Parts: sequence; structure tokens; C-alpha cells
Amino acid sequence: MRQPLVAGNWKMNGSTASAEALLAGIKAGIGGVQQTEVAVCPPFPFLQMAAQALQGTAMALGAQNTCTEPAGAYTGEVSAAMLKDVGCRYVIVGHSERRQYYGEDDAIVAKKALQVAENGMIPILCVGETLEERERGEMEAVVARHVDGLLDVSGVDAFANVVVAYEPVWAIGTGMTATPAQAQEVHAFIRNRIAQKSPSIAEGLRILYGGSMKPGNAVELMGQPDIDGGLIGGASLVADDFLAICKAGDVNV
Ligand code: PEP
Repeated sequence: MRQPLVAGNWKMNGSTASAEALLAGIKAGIGGVQQTEVAVCPPFPFLQMAAQALQGTAMALGAQNTCTEPAGAYTGEVSAAMLKDVGCRYVIVGHSERRQYYGEDDAIVAKKALQVAENGMIPILCVGETLEERERGEMEAVVARHVDGLLDVSGVDAFANVVVAYEPVWAIGTGMTATPAQAQEVHAFIRNRIAQKSPSIAEGLRILYGGSMKPGNAVELMGQPDIDGGLIGGASLVADDFLAICKAGDVNV
């Protein structure tokens, strides 16, 4: 049985005060979440504060990005070791906004994921097609390429400590959620791809859905057999909405 995971990707939002308030709101209601693992991924400047706020809770801390390199003269970058040091358990890699706005390709994403794993954390590897790619019938090819970008360099065993997030780019921040059937189809495709190398690792692999997941659609999405939780953008900035999605994660357990 895979434990569901709901992770909030706060993106580049908030201030120290608003981040503290959001964490306080989440903590106040987290007791209602029974089985689902919950993680928050604040911007770098708030990680230290968030690590302290999460102490004594079962919630995990995550970061939104890291450097491809371990240390040294990389001005403006943040290493995986630093994220581990501050208390992160998860690091998002390959988010479509990084691929789209910062030119991150599969080789860069794989290097980042390896840094995360080498430092004892879990990469949340984001994969997913654009609307144009879906309309051209390339959805499976694109998702396969994103998965293989890491699989080919790390080997399948590494996926025992990886979370995959299927995030169709056309659904991120647009309010256009994939239907449960559309999402399930891709999640099953991803699991099958890993299963071709290792059925047991595929069985244990958590595959999250991301893309306009909200309290109103979370139960149905997470009720699908291959959807093991969510990576939540906009709705993770509202404590009550995020908590409602976390509770929806319990539906699959
Ligand atoms: C995301 O950016 O990871 C995401 C899923 O965003 P949203 O929930 O706002 O679509």
C-alpha cells in the first residue's frame, strides 16, 4: 500500500508574516488528516522558519529547486546539502515553470535529482506535456522522455526513493484540471514504464497529480488507482483548501 502524499508548492509567493500565518493555519487543522503524508515547499528564504514551525508535527518540509552542482562558485544557487541541512525531506525538480522559463532540460533535471538523492532527500520529479504536445498526440512520448531522463542515468533502483508528479502543463494554474480518467491514463502509463524495469519498484512508486487540484476535485482524482496524492500550487496558499485536499488523500487508503 502506497502512503498518499500531498505537497504544497508555494512557488514565489508570500512574506515571512504570510508564510508564518499559512503554516499556523495548516498546523491548526492537520489533526484531521489521518493517513496522508503532508509536505510544504516554501520559497528558500522561509525554509528555516518553516522547519522550526513544523517541529513536533508529522509534516515534511520540501524545497522547490536546487543546484546541479554540490558546492562552489555558483552565485545565487542553493545546494542540495544546504537543503538537507535546513531540514528538507523533499525537493521538487523539473517543474514545468523551470523547464519553460529557465531552460532546464532532462539532463539538468536528472543532475538535480541525483544531487537531491545523494544528500539523502527525495526528489519530486515533475513530468508532463504541454497542450500543443497533447494535441499533436505526443503526450506519452513527452512523459516517457521526462521519466527516462532520470531513469537512464540513475537506473530503476533510484526510483525506490523518488516521487513522480504528473503535471500536464495545460492544467497548471489555469483552472483546467485533467479529468480523473485522463490523469489515471497517464499515471498508469508512468507506472507501467517503471514496471518494465522493476515491477516491485513500480508498485511502490508514488505518482502525484498536479494541475489545478482543488477541494472540489481532489477526492475523485485521488480515488483513481494510480494517483497517490497531489502536488498543489494555488490551493496550497489557502490553509483551509490545502487541508481539504490533504484529507481527500485519505480516500485511497
Ligand atoms: C504546480 O505548479 O505544481 C501546480 C500544480 O499548480 P496549480 O495547482 O496552481 O495548478
